[in-house]
Amino acid sequence: MIKAVRGFKDILPGETGKWVYLEGLARRLFNAYGFREIRTPILEKTELFARSIGEATDIVEKEMYTFLDRNKESVTLRPEATAGICRAVIEHGLYAKAKVLKLFTMGPMFRHERPQKGRLRQFHQFNAEVFGSHTPGTDAEVIALAMDILEAGGAKDLRLEINSLGCPECRPDFRENLRKFLRDNADKLCEDCKRRTERNPLRALDCKKESCQAVYVNAPLIEEFWCEDCRKHFARVLEELELLGLDYVKNPRLVRGLDYYVRTTFEIKARGLGAQDTVAAGGRYDGLLKALGGPDIPGVGFAIGVERFLLVANLPEGLERGLDLFVAALGEEAKRKILSLVRSLRQNGFSVDLDHEGRSLKAQLKTANRLKARYTLILGENELKEKVALLRDMATGEQETLSLAGLEKELIKRLS
Ligand code: ATP
Ligand code: MG
Repeated sequence: MIKAVRGFKDILPGETGKWVYLEGLARRLFNAYGFREIRTPILEKTELFARSIGEATDIVEKEMYTFLDRNKESVTLRPEATAGICRAVIEHGLYAKAKVLKLFTMGPMFRHERPQKGRLRQFHQFNAEVFGSHTPGTDAEVIALAMDILEAGGAKDLRLEINSLGCPECRPDFRENLRKFLRDNADKLCEDCKRRTERNPLRALDCKKESCQAVYVNAPLIEEFWCEDCRKHFARVLEELELLGLDYVKNPRLVRGLDYYVRTTFEIKARGLGAQDTVAAGGRYDGLLKALGGPDIPGVGFAIGVERFLLVANLPEGLERGLDLFVAALGEEAKRKILSLVRSLRQNGFSVDLDHEGRSLKAQLKTANRLKARYTLILGENELKEKVALLRDMATGEQETLSLAGLEKELIKRLS
């Protein structure tokens, strides 16, 4: 038996209803906040991710699905959405058409990680990106949108953690200071963090190992290095969050796994997720578009992990809608009589099914129940003779007799 690739999961009927529901509410909120949808390819040139996410990040160092295509070009299955969206924004000059460009997308991402609860190799994200705004108000708005989507999905006990990573003005000082701290404590650090010390010291703070985190309790804090502009920006973001009625927790050690972030960074955590408790994450990436060969336009965005969202969502019952109508046509003649009506009801948007196998009425009623049909229309030889059909309400078992003349109109009245 051929099985799916490890870390790649089928989303089966029964689960897809939840996905459609979450996608629908996300789409509604993206629209409500004035975001427009963009869909970029899942395959991009490897260079795009190496240049945007950063060579010395976990994603680029060890998580990307990279391979040579048949023309020996190195391509990569996207590990995140921002890089591809930036590429598209530059390639199509989208920034020229709007001063502030708000985009969203949803779809699969790919990372070669160890599969576990809340961690897959193909997973899905809802992404929002805003280009062209430097103002802290935009950061707060983006955060509010992420929170609203999660809350609309019934996620409870959300915890918004926020920090500022400084900017190219002030971060280098911090980076050097942190590097020195890491070197001084090298004997207590894991191999990864030793490597990060030289290549990308900020990444060390994101290490998942407790032994390293125990050391970082005493690490220098970025807030001690913020320049005046970064300090003001952060204060204003917090103020706007308060105006929006959003609670937050300042986390001075929060860093992100991607190099392009500056200033505001945030994560939204949810209870009940275990070790992988971050359901959404994002921040500002002002230098990214320029680094990718585009204009010097700032950006800010987030990604919600849909699989983790599903783990904490509280979804309404009955997302998998049953049939509106099951048609039990008994015998060839009955089927001939009813087929065009079935098609017409379907064209009108009603979900209607019928039995093509010529099974008994009992068997067909069983099928109707299994398909959660609201009504079953029964048409047998007797009914045909009398030019009627029986409409059975599956919840109550009550049956009424409808004349075949004008049947469609009567059915539409009841099903609507
Ligand atoms: P983590 O620290 O959990 O590895 P990350 O920093 O790598 O997360 P981001 O790149 O910020 O994650 O992605 C944003 C969100 O996408 C995460 O908060 C999470 O909900 C989801 N996500 C990331 N990687 C995976 C994965 N392998 N499987 C499922 N969801 C994921
Ligand atoms: Mg990760």
